[in-house]
Formats: sequence, C-alpha cells, structure tokens
Amino acid sequence: MLKLASLCFPDDKKSCFYCCPPIRDPEADTLDNIEERRTTLRANRKNLLENITRAQEISGESCWGLGFLDDDEKQAGCLLHPLRHDGNDLRHLTGYQFKCANALCREALIFAELSPKEQEFCLNLCRDMDSFTYSSRSNPLMKLLAWETGIVQFVIADSCRNEAPFIDQYSFLWQKLDFRLDGYLVYEIFKKAGIDFLRNRLQHFIILRKQLTAELKDLKNDPAFKNLSDTALVPTHKLDIPLSLSRLLKFGANLWELPAASRELILSRTEQTLEKFLHS
Ligand code: SF4
Ligand code: SF4
Repeated sequence: MLKLASLCFPDDKKSCFYCCPPIRDPEADTLDNIEERRTTLRANRKNLLENITRAQEISGESCWGLGFLDDDEKQAGCLLHPLRHDGNDLRHLTGYQFKCANALCREALIFAELSPKEQEFCLNLCRDMDSFTYSSRSNPLMKLLAWETGIVQFVIADSCRNEAPFIDQYSFLWQKLDFRLDGYLVYEIFKKAGIDFLRNRLQHFIILRKQLTAELKDLKNDPAFKNLSDTALVPTHKLDIPLSLSRLLKFGANLWELPAASRELILSRTEQTLEKFLHS
C-alpha cells in the first residue's frame, strides 16, 4: 500500500511543496529566491478568500493556491485541497486540477516502497530542516530517493552499520554519479562487491560507463545484432530488461528503439564489461 503522506508531510514542523505548481520550470527549486517565496506563501494564505473570489488560471511561475498551512508558517502546501474545504476540491479554480491531483514525484514512489524502519531512517536525515530546505531537490534525502529502491535500501542498511556521517559516506552518489545513467551498474556493483568497492573506484567507474556506453552504441555493427535487425523494433523501455538498464541505453547510448530480440545480446555485453570492472 502506498504511504505517501509521510514524505509529503513528514511531521508537523515541515512539509514538501516542491511539486507546486505541476507546470513549473523543472529546474525551479524551493530554495530559489527564498524570501520572495516566503512573502508569497504568507500573502496567499492571508488573501485566500479574495483570491478564490477572483480566481485565475495559474502560470508555471507560481500558484495563488500555494501558501503556508499554519499561522506559524511551518508547513506549506495547497490551500485549495479538499481536506481544507470539507471535501470540496477547489483546485479546479487554478485550471490544473487534474495535474495537481495526480502530481506524484519519483522520490515519493520510491519512498513508498521502503519498509517503515527504512522510511523512519530517511525522515531522520531531515529532522531539523524547515519546509524550504526539506522540499528542495538539494536535500540529500531527495537526492538519495532519486535512485532505484534497491540502491536506496543498500545505502540505508550500510549507513545503519557504520557511524560515519551520512553525507560524507554517500554523497558520491549524486556528486559524482548520475541516477539516470548509473542505476543499473551501481546496483549490480553494490550486490556483487559492496558500496566500498564502488566508492574506492569512482574514476574507474566513470571509465566503465563510458566504455560500456560506447560498446552499446556500437552494437549495430555486431554480426549477432545484424541477424536481429529484421525483427520488430520496440521502444527501449519496453525491452525485457531492467528499466535502469534501459535508461543507460536511452540517455547514455541514445538508443531509443531496439529489436525485441536484442535483450540477450545487451545483457551479455553489459555483464562482460561489468565483470572486467569487478575483477580489476
Ligand atoms: S514533490 Fe513529491 S514529496 Fe513533495 S509534495 Fe510532491 S509528491 Fe510529495
Ligand atoms: S492548486 Fe494546489 S496543488 Fe495545484 S498547484 Fe496550486 S497549490 Fe499546488
């Protein structure tokens, strides 16, 4: 069962409001122009009734329905949510009710797959944050949750076994690596050799990723691949391979469609290169 409430509303001292409005600039962050944002959230709370009376469609810049949810200005969120209006959903007044009601970030989905103990660990990382810092995608928890569930669980288990500060130990994941490209390789290395193995070979890992990406790009010149090229092409994410590997193929090797039967070839090529790295 999804337990999303706790990532969006972890406690009564803060909340996440990163996904408002859902049509915002994807690069915009809650720590940008923080004082201006604070003033707007305060004004939106104060002027809510008036704003409802002369409701206007929102732009990607901001939403007049986003405001502080309490007088102490601790939590920020949707002032038009049905929970605040006896079940009446007023989000349609902004013109984007459907998008608002269905906004769900990748981090919340990954968080929902964790056990209650793992979720507690995650939220403890943010104990002293306010809503702006918590919501920000520079928050180390949100950086961690951008990775696959298995990787997040490895990190949590590893962190529970050692005393070292979390950031010192695991920030290499977002400072040196890229969750869109590296999810598959990182998970395989964690499983086969452990986190320390990768942490101590980051430069070498970057070379591995480059080499594998080049090999995958070059697959079309492999005689075995040429034999498959008569079979129907499918979108890469529909191949019967882990999604994280399909991301490396798409974003790393720029392969957006492949023959359905290329699965074995891709997996064996990836495995061979990975094994060389693990025994280096
Ligand atoms: S960005 Fe994610 S965690 Fe934050 S409020 Fe939206 S769904 Fe919840
Ligand atoms: S209507 Fe509510 S959920 Fe939608 S963007 Fe505005 S504040 Fe966010």
